[in-house]
Amino acid sequence: VAKSAGRGCYRFFTKAMQQESDFRIRLSNDLHQALHSKQFTVHYQPIVELNTGHIHKAEALLRWQHPELGAVSPAIFIPIAEDNGTIHEIGNWVFTQAVNQAAHIQSLIGRDFQITVNKSPIQFKGHDEIIHNWITLLNDINLPAKNVVVEITEGILMDVVGDIPDKLLAFREAGIKIAIDDFGTGYSSLSYLKKFDVDYLKIDQSFTRHLSLNAPEFALCEAIVVMAHRLNIKVIAEGVETELQRELLKLIGCDYGQGYLFSKPVPAAELEILLQKDL
Ligand code: C2E
Ligand code: MG
Ligand code: MG
Ligand code: MG
Repeated sequence: VAKSAGRGCYRFFTKAMQQESDFRIRLSNDLHQALHSKQFTVHYQPIVELNTGHIHKAEALLRWQHPELGAVSPAIFIPIAEDNGTIHEIGNWVFTQAVNQAAHIQSLIGRDFQITVNKSPIQFKGHDEIIHNWITLLNDINLPAKNVVVEITEGILMDVVGDIPDKLLAFREAGIKIAIDDFGTGYSSLSYLKKFDVDYLKIDQSFTRHLSLNAPEFALCEAIVVMAHRLNIKVIAEGVETELQRELLKLIGCDYGQGYLFSKPVPAAELEILLQKDL
């Protein structure tokens, strides 16, 4: 009995793995048409100044509406797009959408507004023209480079042998701002904070989620804020869902919050409404 159950389990296991890999192959194939078939949109999640409650920034988040599968999470398809190379074209498209939207919002609300865009490490590999193209685009649409923030994860900065650090420094020189995404979950060698003159740290939502006065996360968040401020870096807490989290983050002097408490990621038109209400 044990033996046949074992075999059954084994067969079930491989079948699930086969299905998983079939699914990924399918998504990988479908990603090649997704952009041209207009299946992507960009949603925007407000980033709120905790002291005033005003929206100063928003993060651009890619959405894929698959014709048969429905909405597919970027957590699933971004790694596949990195593997099959479509991330370059898709990433440039997201950037173009996001900065155009930011330029439009600037003229609409008549005050400073920053857009943050996620970048995969892969997007920094090769493709030396990327910085030049981006700067040209920003000039064309009259959006100052300082209104654009590139979100990268810590892992990128540890790539000491590749050419990523040089590219990042070129972004900096052009005036584009840099945020470290999911801060606290990566290698955290901290020395890069100085080297790259980082502008923002985004505290990962795994810290925010467990915030309470007695939790270790409270001490960690406080320490992150103190360190960041001493280095002239602003802090954004991700995944703020409750009033308690908002209050505790304010208490420790965290600058900005982002999360379902304020708003989920919304289409461009909805962001504009939120911003106009915020005047
Ligand atoms: P991320 O950059 O850390 O983005 C934050 C994620 O947290 C988003 O998930 C957002 O919808 C979600 N989130 C926001 N507030 C809350 C909250 O209060 N509670 C919870 N539980 N979650 C919240 P999303 O949109 O599914 O994106 C997942 C990841 O996919 C992103 O993580 C980012 O790493 C990647 N991604 C999304 N768009 C792009 C893109 O255009 N380019 C690249 N390279 N990666 C992207
Ligand atoms: Mg991000
Ligand atoms: Mg994050
Ligand atoms: Mg992430």
